[in-house]
Amino acid sequence: MNKSEDEWKATLTEEQYRILRQKNTEQAFTGHLLNNKQHGVYTCAGCGNPLFLSETKFDSGSGWPSFYDSIDDTHIGKVTDKSWGMIRTEVECASCGGHLGHLFDDGPAPTGLRYCINSASISFE
Ligand SMILES: [Zn+2]
Repeated sequence: MNKSEDEWKATLTEEQYRILRQKNTEQAFTGHLLNNKQHGVYTCAGCGNPLFLSETKFDSGSGWPSFYDSIDDTHIGKVTDKSWGMIRTEVECASCGGHLGHLFDDGPAPTGLRYCINSASISFE
């Protein structure tokens, strides 16, 4: 999926654009999906690509929605991020390239992974 930056600006909110397209991070504990415990699917806010199932969401205490597994590894792109003097794994939507958050290896069983995701990057269905 290839949209121009102007097209993205027209379809996303300012906050979504800042995070999905410019790789910013929302303030901890402010996201609207942080405490969502409903049963369903989390999709990319940019393109609707299914990313996470509610069953894999857990309370990490970090202030961002956290998941221990993706719905399908091919739906998520992983990129080495060396910004801010740290080496982290950035996760992005494999379909539209939108920035989702970061992946850490301190999550719970069974995967031991923690996908730390911005609320603004995802929609809930
Ligand atoms: Zn997407």
